Amino acid sequence: MASYYNGHTILWLDGAFVKASEAKTDLYGQSLHYGYAVFEGIRSYRNVKGLTKIFKAREHFERLRNSARALNLPYPWSTEELIENTYAVLTKNNQQNAYIRPLVYAPANMSFAKNTESHIAIETWEMEPFLGDKLLRVMVSGFQRPNPKGFKIEAKASGHYVNSILASQEAKAAGYDEALLTDMNGYVAEGPGANVFFEKDGVLYTPAAGNILPGITRATVIEICHQSGIPVKEQFFTVEALKEADTAFFCGTAAEVIGWESLDGQPFKKRWIGSLSHRIQQAYQDRVIEKQPEERFAELEKV
Ligand code: PMP
Repeated sequence: MASYYNGHTILWLDGAFVKASEAKTDLYGQSLHYGYAVFEGIRSYRNVKGLTKIFKAREHFERLRNSARALNLPYPWSTEELIENTYAVLTKNNQQNAYIRPLVYAPANMSFAKNTESHIAIETWEMEPFLGDKLLRVMVSGFQRPNPKGFKIEAKASGHYVNSILASQEAKAAGYDEALLTDMNGYVAEGPGANVFFEKDGVLYTPAAGNILPGITRATVIEICHQSGIPVKEQFFTVEALKEADTAFFCGTAAEVIGWESLDGQPFKKRWIGSLSHRIQQAYQDRVIEKQPEERFAELEKV
């Protein structure tokens, strides 16, 4: 099993800094039993100036609050206090390149009734930036994403991840790197923990919001497209259309931008290196470390 902490690691629990090895939770908790909790996946990076910067901190903590509200979980914290305490946890753990996991969970309650309070934990662990050189072999999953008429699909709710776990394990058992899930209408939706884009004839396409978790990385990719003059369309499309793409990629906080080699064993038409998608990947990698576009050009001129 992976180890996310050691005897010195500190986390933030209900307003106090505590040792991860000494922190406790209630085995009668409603969240543990029913998957009734919300969380975030955030990253911090050592930027070009050597400083620790949480990427899109405000967007992530606002989504955490919106997820909690969507599920009727009490949420008394301000975004500012959570960001400040997250930086403090990183400093205490001496981490710069880290994954940050805030979790809002319910107290002991075996009924389905609302609670008057919630707990919050903010955990961090070391995570190096990804270099983007690996391409994924993706499989169309037998599982669909949860039906938005049965779940608050735009919320990052713990229980949704049973679906992600099933799809990801199915793909890995079949010898693939990752799964691609469709929505309840059979259109392309997203990966178990990432959004999807494809490139075709100079245009980027991504599934429209409605049946997916609209990711913060997805929004960043759309922003990069707008700023670089790359046309981008949000619409519903089929798996067959995706298989005709020039290139495709997943994007998410943990995955960053990661290209695909093939879908169901069928390779994509264009080489990743030199594609528009590759340029977007590089632009994303620059953004997270606050590298200015001029600096990349200066580097390219040197080689
Ligand atoms: N879809 C799902 C199901 C996810 O779990 C994630 C990861 N949070 C994403 C998309 C990408 O979201 P983000 O870019 O905000 O990390």
